[in-house]
Amino acid sequence: MHFRHGRCGIDERRCAGRGGEAVEAARRTRVVVVGGGTAGWMTAAALATLAPRAASVHLIESAEIGIVGVGEATLPHLRAFITRLGIDEAAFMAETHATFKLGIEFRDFGAIGDRYIHPFGTFGRPLAGVAFHHYWLRRRAAGAVRPIGDYSMGVVAAEASRFARPGPDADDLANGFGYAYQFDATRFAPFLRAHAEARGAQRSEGIVVDVERDPSTGDVAAVVLADGRRIEGDLFVDCSGFRALLIGQTMEAAWEDWSQWLPCDRAVAAPCASPPGGIEPFTRATAMTAGWRWRIPLTHRVGNGYVYSSAHLSDDEARAGLVAALEAPPLAEPRLLRFRAGRRSRSWVGNVLSVGLASGFLEPLESTSIYLAQMAITQLIEHFPDRHVTDADRDGFNATVDAEYDRIREFLILHYHATTRDDSPFWDHVRTMTIPDSLAEKMALWRETAQVSRYSHGLFLEPSWVAVYLGQGIVPTGWDPRADLPEAAGLDRALAGLHAGIANAAAAMPDHRAYLATTA
Ligand SMILES: Cc1cc2nc3c(=O)[nH]c(=O)nc-3n(C[C@H](O)[C@H](O)[C@H](O)COP(=O)(O)OP(=O)(O)OC[C@H]3O[C@@H](n4cnc5c(N)ncnc54)[C@H](O)[C@@H]3O)c2cc1C
Repeated sequence: MHFRHGRCGIDERRCAGRGGEAVEAARRTRVVVVGGGTAGWMTAAALATLAPRAASVHLIESAEIGIVGVGEATLPHLRAFITRLGIDEAAFMAETHATFKLGIEFRDFGAIGDRYIHPFGTFGRPLAGVAFHHYWLRRRAAGAVRPIGDYSMGVVAAEASRFARPGPDADDLANGFGYAYQFDATRFAPFLRAHAEARGAQRSEGIVVDVERDPSTGDVAAVVLADGRRIEGDLFVDCSGFRALLIGQTMEAAWEDWSQWLPCDRAVAAPCASPPGGIEPFTRATAMTAGWRWRIPLTHRVGNGYVYSSAHLSDDEARAGLVAALEAPPLAEPRLLRFRAGRRSRSWVGNVLSVGLASGFLEPLESTSIYLAQMAITQLIEHFPDRHVTDADRDGFNATVDAEYDRIREFLILHYHATTRDDSPFWDHVRTMTIPDSLAEKMALWRETAQVSRYSHGLFLEPSWVAVYLGQGIVPTGWDPRADLPEAAGLDRALAGLHAGIANAAAAMPDHRAYLATTA
């Protein structure tokens, strides 16, 4: 992509003869955002804050249609988004009833009775350039180690329901973790709306019923609302959710369906009251007969949902399964949501770019959807186009989005496929299905050598794969031969010291609920 902020890419005649401010306004790309869910308001808030001289923002949303309103668990990247927009973390957390999140606890995935935490952080620390898990595997073979989670600050703190923001010294093991948020999804978009409108974003309430296209280019020229209003733009960001009004219906970007590997296509969601006592600083995912169930503790309630495959379970069974599993009666009637796993073959076509559910969806097992919206927005801002978008601009954007989706897809498939469960047709299906070659190669490499395939960029780096592989019972037969070099007794002392240091640091942290009371 090219960065061309400084250049006036628009028709020079529009600038001629105007005063400075008018010229400035005329130079700005008119961005129309269709949709006011999390994706729409994240886009509008980011553009209004970070590109006010390059773009004007006009967002259209419809209360009648509403938003998805789920999406309560996030990844640590959201912190960078909030910070970059100059949002006060405490205000954001208070407004959205947010809690801190240190990772995800998976139960019953590899086998019924299993549990492990996939933390935002590392396991141990490398020695002589070799990742910790190689040494751990060597000593595990001799029966001389604790579970790998005991060498992770994020895991140990999560299990003790303790939390404090990590300090700045990255070399200190006590700071070897990241954190994200769990929040009330219905409150995030309104919070961002206030931020965006305060920075000049315009908003229209109404339903888009027609889309006008430039007959010569095929680009979208304007959208028309039910009451006849017509809103013109240079760049249209489709944040219309699963409807994919512009990218799907108008630009006809093809949909790549991934349900053969990710068969869950529905969810029922219902909140319940928080139990007395502590608030876990993690999201829980519990495998169920035909999918899995989330549990997300917020400050004022617990969010729950059962994500399932409609080919293997009826909606009524899912509702009953969810309600039966709740720790307290539901606070609302369980809501049914339908979705498909997959993505658009191109997220940006012509002058329409899609962000959020309009661009694709991978089920929420690893809380990746808001991250994907954030990643697309970051791409857009960093390479903000003038009015002459080139094929190279679009190709660069689409290639990045594709790579992110593909990597997440593989990581999610691993959670299903790496199982010994044979207690239901759903688990039989995912255990025995043919997986993408790229994932099969990664798993074979891990099994033999304990190596994790490296990415140059993207989500889920080595510690994440190690957490899920080991958590779901795929233990490699080999390890890096350099891990055999240290003398065993010395290695065992180092491992014991590492665990003791982590346990002490976690014990010194405040209780999560108490920390929330002082900080959010
Ligand atoms: C079951 C489930 C669980 C999830 N859990 C997580 C999670 O834990 N973590 C995570 O990161 N993500 C999660 N997600 C995804 C997350 O909810 C979405 O990524 C996020 O809410 C963004 O949605 P959106 O803004 O793209 O779409 P929506 O919220 O659907 O918003 C669409 C907007 O478009 C508007 N609109 C549509 N058509 C028109 C029209 N014709 N005219 C005018 N306006 C229109 C609507 O009014 C609305 O404002 C989950 C999703 C599902 C389905």
